[in-house]
Amino acid sequence: MAKATTTLKQVLNYQPDHSAWFAANQALFNQVAAFYFEVIQAHEKVLDLSNKEALTALEKLTHTTQKNPTPVMPLEEILEDIPAMFRRAAIHAALGSARSFYSHLQKWRKRKEKTLAKGKKFHERPPVPPRSWNKSATLYRGMWKERAHNSIVLKVWTGTCWSWVKVRITGRELPSDAEMGSPALIRHGNQWCLHTPIEKQFKSPGKIEKQVTTNAQTKMCAVDLNINENLAVCTIQTVEGTILATKFIGGGKEISGFRKKQLGRIAHNRRKTGIIAENEQDNVHLWNKIRHVDEQIAHLVSARIVQFAKQHDTTILVFEHLGNLKPAKGKYSHRGNSKRAFWMKGRIFKYAKYKAYNEGMLTSRVNPRNTSRECARCHSLLARYEEGQEAQGYMYGASLVLCPTCGMKGNADRNASLVIGQRLVTRYQQSSKEKPPTPLLAERVSRDAGVVVSQDAKCEEEPSIPQTGHGDTNEHGTAQDRPLRMDEHLSDIPCHLRLPLE
Ligand SMILES: [Zn+2]
Repeated sequence: MAKATTTLKQVLNYQPDHSAWFAANQALFNQVAAFYFEVIQAHEKVLDLSNKEALTALEKLTHTTQKNPTPVMPLEEILEDIPAMFRRAAIHAALGSARSFYSHLQKWRKRKEKTLAKGKKFHERPPVPPRSWNKSATLYRGMWKERAHNSIVLKVWTGTCWSWVKVRITGRELPSDAEMGSPALIRHGNQWCLHTPIEKQFKSPGKIEKQVTTNAQTKMCAVDLNINENLAVCTIQTVEGTILATKFIGGGKEISGFRKKQLGRIAHNRRKTGIIAENEQDNVHLWNKIRHVDEQIAHLVSARIVQFAKQHDTTILVFEHLGNLKPAKGKYSHRGNSKRAFWMKGRIFKYAKYKAYNEGMLTSRVNPRNTSRECARCHSLLARYEEGQEAQGYMYGASLVLCPTCGMKGNADRNASLVIGQRLVTRYQQSSKEKPPTPLLAERVSRDAGVVVSQDAKCEEEPSIPQTGHGDTNEHGTAQDRPLRMDEHLSDIPCHLRLPLE
């Protein structure tokens, strides 16, 4: 069995003055978390302990009891009578932040040491501990009771006392087959919501290697991510090579045009004011607008990819590694745009991996080398060109390809996605055919075949950060249900994303 975590988001209905109580409750939670962060800074060794042991150690340092009448740093100085479960939730929040901060600091020290040892100068600034705390209060058991599908009773700090408050809940109901975690009281603008992590168990999909090497009918969805009009092109194919369906997810031009406009405005504003204050983000509103739309598109595109894969009962999702960002030349808006388009590809991958995992699919990445230049049918080098031009040479980013060797003709991005899928199969078939005695040899064998076994191929299979709850987007696009041949015309399957632009 495997587990998937999602977040159930519910809106709360409460009396108007309760909103101030929730805010006071959150402020106190952050004050206590910040306090514990300081305690940890003063006793760094705590971080060598497990969370459970660290909790005990931190309580001993701060919590006054009969057995422990004079703790080193008493929490009472902030407020007396903080409920134990409130304190523990804040301690865990502080521990999480502290672990992350110290691991970044350690990595930074290592990089510094390494660079200085080489006799080079080290300019990177060290990570800083959080300057302000803005965490949402997690409600451990004991801080809430009587949870029903439309109401819950919460214990909150009102600013002057601890009080039980009954609030109404609207939104999705708790699924009956899922296990519920501790809810958190979250503010969205002026509205307070309850977010509850829920864990679902499902039959775990077999390892990719096993699926690929033992069943030739295993279906994969291979995805080519682009920064041109087709943000993603997906093909469904079986391990033995039958192509079952293709889907084009468009909207690239629209998002690029939107970004270009906003970046142009930012450049214009900067020229007007002349200076950019250090450590201060300029044009906050415009940047937020870009960020928001990028994020939304990444969620939409990843949801579509997973939905398409699910419709065709695929169990594996394949992408190519993104490689490094090649800095574009030209105007500020153009450079900024291509940088953001590149980041968005990374985000689409990350979200798709999550959403796929929650549907019981595993995700992998393959070597991106020449995926656009190789013929999916015979693996020769392709000619790439635009409609109306002569089919020869290689025009970067053009939409059509022709294989001079086997005559295959078709859409360039679709060809690339087919090649991506085939690479995954090649990787595992190579390694199973010549089953190597050592992992080192395995890597060499694969490299000889032109496919690099990715270092993180194994850990790629399961997502590492719980980021979920956005997979419920509606489908406006169309997908081809019948098998397509490479030389068929594909212009009949455009699929545009609707953007909430301006
Ligand atoms: Zn060919």
